[in-house]
Amino acid sequence: MKCDLCEQKPVMKSHTYSFCKDHFIKYFVWMTNETIKKFDLLEKHEKICIATSGGKDSLAITDVLYELGYNFTCLLIDEGIDDYREHSIIDLKKYVADKNISYRIVSFKDEYGVSLDEGVKKNLFPCTLCGTWRRYLLNKYSKDFDVLVTGHNLDDEAQTILINLFRANTDLLLRIGPKTEPKVGFTRRIKPFYFLSEKEIRAYVLLKGIEVHFTECPYANIAYRDGLRLELNKLEEISPGTKKNIVETFLALKNKKQIEKTEKSHYDFCQKCGEPSEKEICKSCKLKNDVLN
Ligand code: SF4
Ligand code: ZN
Repeated sequence: MKCDLCEQKPVMKSHTYSFCKDHFIKYFVWMTNETIKKFDLLEKHEKICIATSGGKDSLAITDVLYELGYNFTCLLIDEGIDDYREHSIIDLKKYVADKNISYRIVSFKDEYGVSLDEGVKKNLFPCTLCGTWRRYLLNKYSKDFDVLVTGHNLDDEAQTILINLFRANTDLLLRIGPKTEPKVGFTRRIKPFYFLSEKEIRAYVLLKGIEVHFTECPYANIAYRDGLRLELNKLEEISPGTKKNIVETFLALKNKKQIEKTEKSHYDFCQKCGEPSEKEICKSCKLKNDVLN
């Protein structure tokens, strides 16, 4: 067997193509750039913040944007998850030091007075607390930027579409996509890895020799998403292209019906912290109150 583009040995199969190491890396960067162009995600002059966890997805997007010549700052939210987050912080620090990239770390402990590990002792579901506070802090600390880049990939997106479908979360479902629409108080969010799978990202990181821990969050196995991830992986094995089909069908429907127009456009601000909120008190402040009382 040979690479579809040269005489070298193939190391990775992406869709219907077999690639050698060099051609796979080129394909991966090209695919990211095509997504950026197709959905008008980024301009070179914009002030860019990358939401980094130090994990494989965020280090891969940092690496690709670096290769494409973008200037950016990395923002890491340290939730305070013992024997997990400290490893990825080391990986991030090493990566940015090598390339002289600026970064900032904001922690739950500094912001809310408790780490995630301490917060969950109050019988709160870890992913609810983690997701709410992380989204809140990423938005709060990216206010000085034009755009917030995340490493969300095809697998994440297919899972999110199905979760919101299964839970009948119509409002949330309508907001899914490669970019968020501009809204007062919210930094625009974009996902340049929208059409790249977790498997491809893993291969990119390994082939580029980026140092990264592949450990999973200790709370991941109790998350609904994790069960769905395993089921989707099984379906993908039986029927390759399943994840891509879910995402592409969803996008086609969204475009056809222009359903995003039905999205609520009215936002108010939290009476406690002043950040954008649909209710009088935002979800982040409500959880803080639950954790501290
Ligand atoms: Fe946070 Fe871990 Fe849940 Fe992911 S799996 S949302 S990192 S607690
Ligand atoms: Zn090749």
